[in-house]
Amino acid sequence: MAEQASAQTAEQPGKKPILPVFKLEPKPHLVGVKCSACGAVFLDVKRLACSKCGATGPFQEVQLSDKGKVWVFSVIHQSFPGVKTPYVTAIVDLPEGVSVKSNLVDVDPLELQKNPQKAFGMAVELVANVVAKDRQGNEVVAFQFRPSAN
Ligand SMILES: [Zn+2]
Repeated sequence: MAEQASAQTAEQPGKKPILPVFKLEPKPHLVGVKCSACGAVFLDVKRLACSKCGATGPFQEVQLSDKGKVWVFSVIHQSFPGVKTPYVTAIVDLPEGVSVKSNLVDVDPLELQKNPQKAFGMAVELVANVVAKDRQGNEVVAFQFRPSAN
């Protein structure tokens, strides 16, 4: 009887990362896989073959840097109902050679639109923000980037 009770215990609602490549513990970070043949890193949790050299592995899981630089960005003025606009979406280059698409927060979208040169190459860091709640009551945590000091 006791056995069944413990097997039925539901997981407590908690925080859930929005994508498998995003880990919350010990602190929020992205993970990638590294090709052991050529060293290329991909934003992925598993991979069948390296798209750079074609090797089929092995691939090693690596923790990606939480700092990067903005490569390109765009200001979004129209989105789905309930999504506040304008906001900024960007592609951020990480030092591992991985590009990540995400939202840029703590910036003024209209200011960046007027002065785009401020955004290109901007140093940013990863932040974790709750963006939604799922049906089980878990908080869904997304990764975003914000300007950083270096
Ligand atoms: Zn490779």
